[in-house]
Amino acid sequence: MTVVDPVCKMKLDEKDARFKSEYKGKMYYFCALSDKKKFDENPEKYIKS
Ligand SMILES: [Zn+2]
Repeated sequence: MTVVDPVCKMKLDEKDARFKSEYKGKMYYFCALSDKKKFDENPEKYIKS
């Protein structure tokens, strides 16, 4: 399953995504720890519902 890193918009394979965060019941995947940290600091900035 392909997922999109919400911070840098890179496409990732879910099974290759080493960094993830759950926010409001939804899982988000990241290519790098730095992206995960940015997301965790301000999730709303990266989420478009
Ligand atoms: Zn990224």
